[in-house]
Amino acid sequence: MGRKAVAALSSIMALLMTGCTVAESIPTTSETSIQVQDISAIRAQDDFYGYINSSYLVSLDTDDSDGYGGSFDDVSAVISDRLDEIIREIAQGDRESYLPGSNEQLIYDLYYLLLDASAGTDGSFMSDEDVTSFEQKCAEILNAASIDELLYIVGDLYREYNVDPIFTPTVTPDLNDSGKSAVGITPFYSPEGTELEVIVLGGNDASDTARSFTNVLIDAGVDSQEAEERGIEDTLLLMQIGYATDFDIVNMLEENLVEAPKYMIYLTEDEIDDLCPNVGHEGILATMGIEDDYVDGIYIVLEDQLSAIDSLLTEDNLESWKDITLLSFVNSIKSFLPESYGGSSIAYSNDSYAIREVKRYLSTELSEEYVERYYDEETVSAVEDLVYDIRDEYEEMINDCEWMSDEGKALAVEKLMSIEFYIGADEPHVTDPSDADLIGASCFETRLALNVRSYERWLSELRGEYESSGFEGMLPTTANACYNPISNCVVIPLGIMDAPFYDKDASYYTNLGGIGSIIGHEISHAFDYHSMWFDMNGNYNPEWMPQEDRDAFEEVALSISEYYSSYTVLTYHNVDGDLTIGENMADISGLEVILRMAGDLDAKKEIFENFAVCFASVSTRDIALSSLSSDPHSPNQIRVNATVALFPEFYEIYEVTSEDLMYVQEDCRVRRW
Ligand SMILES: [Zn+2]
Repeated sequence: MGRKAVAALSSIMALLMTGCTVAESIPTTSETSIQVQDISAIRAQDDFYGYINSSYLVSLDTDDSDGYGGSFDDVSAVISDRLDEIIREIAQGDRESYLPGSNEQLIYDLYYLLLDASAGTDGSFMSDEDVTSFEQKCAEILNAASIDELLYIVGDLYREYNVDPIFTPTVTPDLNDSGKSAVGITPFYSPEGTELEVIVLGGNDASDTARSFTNVLIDAGVDSQEAEERGIEDTLLLMQIGYATDFDIVNMLEENLVEAPKYMIYLTEDEIDDLCPNVGHEGILATMGIEDDYVDGIYIVLEDQLSAIDSLLTEDNLESWKDITLLSFVNSIKSFLPESYGGSSIAYSNDSYAIREVKRYLSTELSEEYVERYYDEETVSAVEDLVYDIRDEYEEMINDCEWMSDEGKALAVEKLMSIEFYIGADEPHVTDPSDADLIGASCFETRLALNVRSYERWLSELRGEYESSGFEGMLPTTANACYNPISNCVVIPLGIMDAPFYDKDASYYTNLGGIGSIIGHEISHAFDYHSMWFDMNGNYNPEWMPQEDRDAFEEVALSISEYYSSYTVLTYHNVDGDLTIGENMADISGLEVILRMAGDLDAKKEIFENFAVCFASVSTRDIALSSLSSDPHSPNQIRVNATVALFPEFYEIYEVTSEDLMYVQEDCRVRRW
């Protein structure tokens, strides 16, 4: 767990990801499950989603995919193929013609390094020198003479290997000052990645963890009997951390990151020193390699857990903390290690392997090359026009709201007008000749160089010297969109500007039902159940709305939650209306705003239809069921059917009557605004 895993906490962005429907049966939406054998017999009045998408969905083959398929995946697949082509084109080019440190040079070098990836020790990703330095690092950890010394060793590990097993830090936007970045400490993870909650219970998971400690110690040269005793001691220390952990919060954060700000507590340096008298704020920052004084305080989530960790960071427990550090370190680089160190040898390295890994290591560089080749000014500016059309209509929609106070409406409009839009792609980075050596002699060396580069960026972000792009970490090649409440911005990347979402040759209203509904959805996130507590400057401040409007909003939220909870998938599995409240609100108001922009029923019909097309997706039964309890989005057929059924125009166009399955009683048709 390092910057990457933990960054999830800070990225409380609301993604418009695909939900799930089930491949093996025709999606049904009502309590009465109808098994329609002939898909042409599905009526819009009974299952609008199935009516629009069934023939496409049955043509999808989920067997050869990762269990997903649908419109979002189709667009992603096209982009992915184009990226493959770009890599091949650069690899076949003349290296001499590429500027040192340029994207092309890095992609070229990495591709050929990976083609020969298994040339390291015992067919691994590491050279002999890498293995030697790995052994030295293990020895350094085990020879630490004091807790203090160990904290500084962890600081180095964090910089080079992205490992901080003690405090799991992250950089997070400052919730009190959205323009700034801050340090956050996220919940403690066991070095094996096993959940602490399970280890606390003892049993097999605890003995597995003890055995992992023992094995890594034996590999590092510790006598086997001593290693066994230490393994047990180490596991007992993890249990003590577990006893001080509020697992309700940990589990909630894992399921629903958008709730994170409610649980983040800001502590000043002095407050940290009071909570953690053993190592204090200086000791915590040392594990992140930070010695300077540009950090005034730290965001934490679990006060009791942090206090427990501090009280356990004593010289008596030094051996256990070394072991935890060692095991985390070894696990973090396991995929690079030779077999003799518990890693696995690479049996293959070929073109498709090299391409896959170039995409993973150099995703930013590659996406810039994509933009250079596929950026279409005309498309991006048409989407831009749509964005501002939708925003203007949104203003009207807020003003037409009947249950809000005038003051509340004015504030909401102010927040709407403060939303920043990032559309298409951001500026490419300027070629830095000092990047020319980023691709090292081995895959392992390259990984470390890239880690150090992202660590340096992390530090300069903290110092306020470097601002990450407005694209909120989204690549222009992403077939998705997002809203971030902390920066109050919407990102619509180039990657989502493809059919069926946006098609140059389609009508205005078809595109409105496609990318327009996505734009409306993302804008609506600014006012959904989670982001509503952030003010127009992106600061967490629930009081920005008058109390009476907040009370009324709670009532609306309750009705929306109940409404979606009444829908089921796979016949009798109900949607979790509370879990999906934010996304459902965004879906409802996103569709409402674009419907308002269409004058007649024909235009609205085009909107409804492409709205349904864009959500076409299939997944396996297992994924569909597990998503019900973890995905903040409703399943896709419900995102379509439950949402369109709220609008009277839908009943008019498709002549839906109370006899039909799509029919929702008028007094049950909820609204967001
Ligand atoms: Zn969303």
